[in-house]
Amino acid sequence: SGTMTKAGMTHLFIPGPTNIPEPVRRAMNVPMQDMRASDFGELTLPLFDGLKRAFKSSTGRVFIFPSSGTGAWEAGITNTLDPGDRVLMSRFGQFSHLWVDMAERLGLEVECIDVDWGAGVPVDLYAERLAADRDGRIKAVFVTHNETATGVTSDVAAVRGALDACGHEALLFVDGVSSIASIDFRMEEWGVDLAVAGSQKGFMLPAGLSFLGVSEKALAASRTGRFRRCYFDFADMLRMNADGFFPYTPPTQLFQGLRVALDLLFDEGLEAVFLRHGRLAEGVRRGVFAWGLDLCAQEPRWYSDTVSAVRVPETVDARDVLRIAYERYRTSFGSGLSQLAGKVFRIGHLGDLNEVSCLTALACAEMALRDAGAAVEPGAGVAAAQEWYRETAEPRRQAV
Ligand code: PLP
Repeated sequence: SGTMTKAGMTHLFIPGPTNIPEPVRRAMNVPMQDMRASDFGELTLPLFDGLKRAFKSSTGRVFIFPSSGTGAWEAGITNTLDPGDRVLMSRFGQFSHLWVDMAERLGLEVECIDVDWGAGVPVDLYAERLAADRDGRIKAVFVTHNETATGVTSDVAAVRGALDACGHEALLFVDGVSSIASIDFRMEEWGVDLAVAGSQKGFMLPAGLSFLGVSEKALAASRTGRFRRCYFDFADMLRMNADGFFPYTPPTQLFQGLRVALDLLFDEGLEAVFLRHGRLAEGVRRGVFAWGLDLCAQEPRWYSDTVSAVRVPETVDARDVLRIAYERYRTSFGSGLSQLAGKVFRIGHLGDLNEVSCLTALACAEMALRDAGAAVEPGAGVAAAQEWYRETAEPRRQAV
């Protein structure tokens, strides 16, 4: 042991960046192109349409920023709100925590509800706070749709319901970084005003692009929003994007990759993509339970179909599982972040993957868990997932 062989492929089961499909990688391996050429819009304008389709929105806009997802968080806040505005947020994992932190550092007055890490957005408490806010001081309500740190998916539609129930006018702001294009997200139907996604998760691209869906209502708010802003200003983007151009040098290779990634998503069909993630995730969960272990997510309604955070036994340090998987078996899982460090490891199951990918992840996790001192039965997780995948295989495939 200790020698790292370079033979075979390395395996990436982190919840982003995800594995990049070959056609997407090839599409990005092209010469640089002129981002001021008269035909540049032929590449970019269809990307905006494709993204709107992926966000399920026929109105409003989707902006593409050359940044990671965090940049789109900042763009959303600084374009639509005023310094000192009161906003309603909740914190139940590292990413919802970082969003709260950003809102505070930008100068919003954050009403933050802390929830157990493993639970989701507290819809009932949101409903209470909104109903009590009769003079409409709350200007925006924030929802982390999929908390990547804990593997928890929250109910965005229910938050829209809470807003509507009391006729509250606040903007609805959703972090869909690890949900959009992987699990069902409906910007228009759910009345979402600002929706954030990143290129490196369900969109199967390198990090470097963020996507921000913006409703007509949020666009209107951006015309009067009093935050100082420059790089992320919607107005500059709107002016340049009209003909498919950008206010600064855009990453054209990523755009070439995005074109193909969107084609792959739409060729499979968004609904089929969501079903695939659901089925694959269920296999992983069955594997985890067959080990006798638990998820960080406390209830089935919160189980995420893009990432599972697995609680290791008390006697085991999850950091050992991660280190062993990486050093001995050339496989990466997601680490436990902040208060979950050492307590969980995360299996990312989103993007370009299938049954066998997930079985590979489970097989490696079993070895690393045992090496780290966990008494999981060899093969138990893999067997449980295999049976689920066989039972639920498409008839066309079963017939072979
Ligand atoms: N929000 C969620 C739910 C995430 O999972 C991440 C990254 O993993 C972020 C926000 C931050 O995105 P980025 O790292 O692309 O800036």
